[in-house]
Order: sequence, then C-alpha cells, then structure tokens
Amino acid sequence: MKSIWFKGINKPEFNCLDSDCETDILIVGGGLAGILCAYMLDQSGADYILIEADKICCGVTADTTAKITAQHGLIYDKIISKYGIDYAREYYQFNSKAINTYRDLCEKYNCRFETKSAYVYSLHKSDDIENEINAYRTLGIPFETVTDTLLPFDIYKAIRMDNQGQINPLELLFKVSERLNIKENTKLINLSDNIAQTNHGRIRYRRAIITTHFPILNKHGLFSLKMYQHRSYVIALKNAQNVDGMYIDASEKGLSFRNCDDLLLLGGGSHRTGKKGGNYTELIRFAESHYPDATIETQYATQDCMTLDGMPYIGQYSRNTPELFVATGFNKWGFTSAMVAAEILCNTLKAEKRLDEKNQIFSPSGRIFHPQLAVNIFETAVNFITPTVPRCPHLGCALKYNKDEHSWDCPCHGSRFTESGKLINNPATDDKQF
Ligand SMILES: Cc1cc2nc3c(=O)[nH]c(=O)nc-3n(C[C@H](O)[C@H](O)[C@H](O)COP(=O)(O)OP(=O)(O)OC[C@H]3O[C@@H](n4cnc5c(N)ncnc54)[C@H](O)[C@@H]3O)c2cc1C
Repeated sequence: MKSIWFKGINKPEFNCLDSDCETDILIVGGGLAGILCAYMLDQSGADYILIEADKICCGVTADTTAKITAQHGLIYDKIISKYGIDYAREYYQFNSKAINTYRDLCEKYNCRFETKSAYVYSLHKSDDIENEINAYRTLGIPFETVTDTLLPFDIYKAIRMDNQGQINPLELLFKVSERLNIKENTKLINLSDNIAQTNHGRIRYRRAIITTHFPILNKHGLFSLKMYQHRSYVIALKNAQNVDGMYIDASEKGLSFRNCDDLLLLGGGSHRTGKKGGNYTELIRFAESHYPDATIETQYATQDCMTLDGMPYIGQYSRNTPELFVATGFNKWGFTSAMVAAEILCNTLKAEKRLDEKNQIFSPSGRIFHPQLAVNIFETAVNFITPTVPRCPHLGCALKYNKDEHSWDCPCHGSRFTESGKLINNPATDDKQF
C-alpha cells in the first residue's frame, strides 16, 4: 500500500536522458539525499545532473515518517564513548543546523513545517537513558526529562528535545525538485573512467555523488561489510490519539509515534531485513489493545541502511576514489543526515577541495572496528553457505521468503525482490530470474 504522503500532492515529471552529455557533477539517485545535494549544488550555480532509475522519491523516502530531529534515539553517549566530546558536539551542531535549513526551505516553498518536541523514552529503569541524559548535560544540549507523556502507557523516563519538526516529505521534495536538472527513468548501469553508462546513453562527468540508498558499486568502499538493512512497519490510524510530539522507544525493537493531521502514525515491528520480526502484526495488536476504536487508514513498510557505529557515511566513497562521493547509512534518521550530507558535499565540491577524511566525523573510510562488523560477517557467511535456492544476485546469499509482504529478501545486505523477481530494494542492481 502507498504511504500517506502522496495524498493531495502533485509530483513534477521529468524526461529521461535523451542523448549523451557532459557534466561537472553527476548525482545518482533521486531520493531525499540526491535531491538535497542537487538543490544545494543548484543554489551554488554548479553544473550538475541528477539521474533517477525510476521516479524521484520512489524509494525509501516515500515510506518514511519524516520526523526532523537531532535526537536520533540514544546516540550522544555512544558517540562520546567512541569518539569523544568534540565529535558528539559536532554531530549535534550539524543536525540542529539541518533542522533550521528545513524550516527555511518550508517557508521558501510554502510547505507546512510543524514545530514539535521529540521524545526518546524508556519503558524501564536503565543505565542507557541515564547515560544519555548525562551526555546531553556534558554537551550542553537543551533538554527536559519527563515521566508523564501523552503515550497510552506508563514509561520510566523520557528525554524531551524541543523545537524539532515534522513535515510531509513529498510536499517539500517535489516542490524543491521542480526546477532542478533531473532525468527520471535513467538508470546507472556502470561507472568507469569518468563515464557513466546509463540505460539511455552516456554521461561524461568530473565528479559523482552516489545517493542510491545502499551504494551500488561493490568494487570500492566495503559497504557490504559495513552496512546491513533494517526494516520497519507503519500503520496510519484514524480515531487513535493526538500525542502532540514525536516519540521513539530507546530500545531498537520499540515503537514510534507521531501524528499527521487526524492520523496517528504508529511505527515498529522492526527486524533485520530477511529475518523475522513483529511486522504489522505487532502494530495491529498494539492498536487493538490501546486504541480499540481506531481503524487503519493505510499501512506501509520500508527499510534503511544501518552503519557499524550508528553515524552516517558521508564523504569520499573510498580513500582511493577522490572523484567519487557517497551519502548513505542514515540509520533511520535520514532527514537531518541527508541535509548534513548535502551541505558537506556541496561545500567540498564547490571549493574544489579534498575532504580531510581523517578529521571528518562522517567519513566512510576507517570507523570499521566495531562489534557490529562481526555480526555482519557472521550473517553473510551463514547465508552464503546456506544451500537453499533462490540466491541473491548481489553476492550470492540465500534469499528468504517474506510471507507478510510476498517478497524474497536477502538477510546479508537487504536486497528484495517481488515473487516474480522484480527488484524492489538494492544493493542488487537487477531483477532476479526465478
Ligand atoms: C520506517 C522508516 C521510518 C523512517 N522515519 C524517519 C524519520 O522519521 N526521520 C528521519 O530522519 N528518517 C527517517 N527514516 C530514514 C529516512 O527515511 C531514510 O534515511 C531516507 O529516506 C533515505 O533516503 P535516500 O535518498 O538515501 O534513499 P531513497 O529514498 O531510497 O533514494 C534512493 C534513490 O536512488 C535510486 N536509484 C537506485 N539505484 C539507482 C541507479 N542504478 N541509477 C539511478 N538511480 C538509482 C532509487 O530509485 C531511489 O529513488 C525512516 C526510515 C524507515 C525505514
């Protein structure tokens, strides 16, 4: 089913590439990250072209919940522990600035930006939430702790961050896209020697930014080791409740809440793609017990790329590809992260400078030795030697049938296919022959 964001929104149409061409900067992928990069480059007067394999915003961005916040679950204590106070402070500053940029963009394009508080809540007493509170204090992040919320159950404690926001992502992105140099139905097939081969011709470029969600070039960057995908489900409920805020459980398996007009968006049921999880059933059961008068207006599911340390990968695709850049691994916090990516990449490309990969907090290079790396290697090894068919065309892992969504899903890196083999989610790049 379609998400709620399309209702009453006009999508601009773009032609496909109709002849070979040349550009300074090629952007591959027209989701949130690609469009924001294109917008910033356009504003700076750069020569660029964005190619989108299908229609803009047809990927993960169409099925998001679009909370715009610098409160990314429990992140600040983790960053301080791993990288120190300066990195954590920079992370907060980058993401807070991104919220203001959204506020300005919504004003410029006459789109609704609703200022809301973000809450991360813990159901039970835990060190994790206390450590996060200490991290906020250390970093000087404004916050309140609360024990009473509008949620329909008791909590132990929540951290409230004020002046965050929520939008209809498609309303804003479609308006921003209108005058950008975009080619739809133009799929990148191969990149080599500064030539991009697409299904509609060749593009000679000087620099390229890959914003295809999961990066699709396997040769560089080790993204297949560094990332996996995590799937979540959303039901939009009528006659539920106005929770007047944006809530997320501190536990990875918990629920998320926000309203959109008269609907309550309830998110959760999450699991690593290709594995079992609560799915829609968990959400429906919760709604039946807490909102017995509510009805489901629509339901949808999607997935995001998860990094080893919970911070996105923004920068050079790999150390030895100075002309190739990437923005990925948004850990389900793509709104501010994609805006940060657009700012960093646009400034770098405009200034013709090399990114200082050693001192750039989001650099995809390095940041590899984390416990999650062992989990990723283990999952890939197990599914690689599992003898069942069908296999994923990406790296050959055994696909698992997802009976809730009638798809074949890869537990290694999250590629997904319909029952007839049509590609739904990358990093696989082609349909599957069954
Ligand atoms: C359930 C859920 C809820 C979320 N809620 C929030 C939230 O409340 N707040 C928040 O900040 N974040 C949220 N996120 C995260 C956020 O939605 C994503 O991080 C973000 O939308 C990803 O955008 P993207 O541009 O990277 O990917 P996409 O939107 O998937 O865009 C990638 C594009 O690349 C194109 N493409 C792929 N291959 C090619 C090719 N070969 N050639 C050309 N084009 C190609 C695709 O067609 C696609 O359009 C959520 C994520 C999930 C899963």
